[in-house]
Amino acid sequence: ESKPKQPESEGVDLPGVKHIIAVGAGKGGVGKSTVSVNLAVGLARQGAKVGILDGDIYGPSLPTMMGLDRFEAKAEGKHLLPFEVHGVKAMSLGSLVEDEKPLIWRGPMAHGAFRQLISQTLWGDLDYLIIDLPPGTGDVPLTMAQLLPLTGAVVVCTPQKVAQDDARRAVAMFRQMRIEVLGVVENMSYFIGDDGKEYDIFGKGGAELMAQQSGIPFLGRIPINTALRYNADAGDPSANFTGDDALARDLSELSRGL
Ligand code: ADP
Repeated sequence: ESKPKQPESEGVDLPGVKHIIAVGAGKGGVGKSTVSVNLAVGLARQGAKVGILDGDIYGPSLPTMMGLDRFEAKAEGKHLLPFEVHGVKAMSLGSLVEDEKPLIWRGPMAHGAFRQLISQTLWGDLDYLIIDLPPGTGDVPLTMAQLLPLTGAVVVCTPQKVAQDDARRAVAMFRQMRIEVLGVVENMSYFIGDDGKEYDIFGKGGAELMAQQSGIPFLGRIPINTALRYNADAGDPSANFTGDDALARDLSELSRGL
């Protein structure tokens, strides 16, 4: 099959990387970056060589979520050295620009920046490279996904009806690009209160149903969890795997399910 190729969408080759996995979502704020980070750290904790690239160039979360903001980005000639944190090699555009400077991109610039970031980073040999895509089904996530020889994509969704509808569109986008959808993750599934009771704040089971209906594996659910939120803000995802037993179990299951 021959696809028409524009210069900015010409593929990037990463021969040292065995599997490139994109994490997408139909909309922002559902936990796409949270899932990306914890998938990466979870896989690394299982002994895999893992990298993570922040493709969410409009709102890069990795500098905060992985604690990259404590370090200066380092270059080696024309190349960038990834940050080595939590057993993972990480790179984010957010680490290369000043804080609070708006990241204003027109489409081709966005693709160009992403392409540069991914191809100039010295990833070395990796078993997995996780790509945190921008949310939605617009031109930018689509072109990014197209640039890379992806093994597949993971779609993140909350149990809410509106999130599922958007997630279905994300699934359809990947399928149209002939990218295998490896599974759906339901985030913010429920909340366990101090009383030990389960509260289904955004509803329950919607993402699993959506996965079933679309013929996609369901990778698991992550409840609304204060420690998860706290560790994200503190840039310490490793703590998710060593603290609260239920959280560590839920997150480890995700990476095992891939
Ligand atoms: P997205 O990448 O889809 O925009 P994020 O992963 O950045 O979403 O999540 C949005 C915010 O919600 C972040 O501050 C994150 O720490 C928080 N968050 C995400 N999932 C959970 C969860 N299951 N429990 C608690 N906080 C969460």
